[in-house]
Amino acid sequence: MSADMHDVAMTPVLPGSEDAAGQQATLGVMGGGQLGRMFVHAAQRLGYFTAVLEPDAQSPAGQVSHHHIQTDYHDPAGLAQLAQLCQAITTEFENVPAQALQALALTRPVAPGAAVVGIAQNRIAEKALFTACADVSGVTCAPYAVIETLAQLQAVQDDRADLLPGILKTARLGYDGKGQVRVRTAVELAAAWAELGGAACVLEKLLPLTAECSVLVARGWDGQVVSFAPQRNVHVDGILAVTHAYEGNMPPALADRAREAAVSISQHLSYVGVLCVEFFVVADGSAHGGLVVNEMAPRPHNSGHYTLDACDVSQFDLQVRAMAGLPLPPPRHHSPAIMLNLLGEVWLDGNGGRREPDWPAVLSLPGTHLHLYGKVQARAGRKMGHLTITGPDVARVKTVARRAAGLLGLPGLDFI
Ligand code: ATP
Ligand code: MG
Repeated sequence: MSADMHDVAMTPVLPGSEDAAGQQATLGVMGGGQLGRMFVHAAQRLGYFTAVLEPDAQSPAGQVSHHHIQTDYHDPAGLAQLAQLCQAITTEFENVPAQALQALALTRPVAPGAAVVGIAQNRIAEKALFTACADVSGVTCAPYAVIETLAQLQAVQDDRADLLPGILKTARLGYDGKGQVRVRTAVELAAAWAELGGAACVLEKLLPLTAECSVLVARGWDGQVVSFAPQRNVHVDGILAVTHAYEGNMPPALADRAREAAVSISQHLSYVGVLCVEFFVVADGSAHGGLVVNEMAPRPHNSGHYTLDACDVSQFDLQVRAMAGLPLPPPRHHSPAIMLNLLGEVWLDGNGGRREPDWPAVLSLPGTHLHLYGKVQARAGRKMGHLTITGPDVARVKTVARRAAGLLGLPGLDFI
């Protein structure tokens, strides 16, 4: 695909405008989680009305939107209502059925489109894409094999010892490290595949990671593209725990390569909207030139939440602008920042009870920005909110982040 083949003219949906029937300019989002909530906040700040399609009555985005269409993502009547209310539509999580986006796209601009969301929903398609554009992006993914049949399992057991030790990942519906099993031997691989129910999977070689990073890109209908510098991410138990967003967070040459690779992938896809591309930094001297592309999310990403407080335009502002056909100025990252994810454990006392975090102590620290998502029930591993720390320099940001993490009992203090 070449970018200009697919770029289309889009009549901008102007903020605060009304149509002939007096209907306010309204932007829609499929999904009601925290990413939808922060999208709604950004859209409303510009004066748009918003509509959220989400089955859950108590969703983070449904709580704050002008309209909440409480139906299943497949429901034709709900989709028709969303299209009727909105001048442009986006999505906030990648497991929205691609057919629903296709149906909406018959009558409304939908960004990102069903085809690219479909690729991001399937690790097999995603890896094929990364492989197909490796020449232009300059990065490859980890060595891998597709396992969809017993014959493929057998072939990998016989001929791909190079992939072990590895990680077996389901092709679909994985997130936060779910649907993944680490395997050391061919026997463990067979057992793990059985444990995953014989679902379509990829076996990926376990790489010696020295770091992980991600890049946020925003691309418009006209092909205009802007990006943020890479943020460095630390995962604990497969879930993002800490994001480091400041100059010097990783070697500059790698940062430049990651940023260029993410932009070229968005161009290859003729992507419209905000795209997050995740990378592994691997130990020097490896065959991968130090950088490996892991996966992409067709939406704003947890690792980009710091942009709300540390940049003049956030990832959610850019999502609004891109889908609505507004200009995309290059974002300016004005403050060093560290983001700490707040999972349910912060509210759990370890004895089955609930505790209230010491917010007065946390918020008395300079440069702390608390974001809670309006989720009523705290569960272990559930993303309840995040805390971003900004400051005049990296040293001060780190000091405050360590204090805040200590007050909240967060794991991974040593990563700050
Ligand atoms: P999410 O969607 O929340 O980012 P996910 O469940 O889709 O996560 P991945 O990003 O593929 O899963 O993997 C989760 C984490 O596991 C990675 O961030 C990395 O820390 C580790 N990991 C995954 N694949 C590899 C690999 N090939 N080698 C080493 N570590 C890996
Ligand atoms: Mg990931």
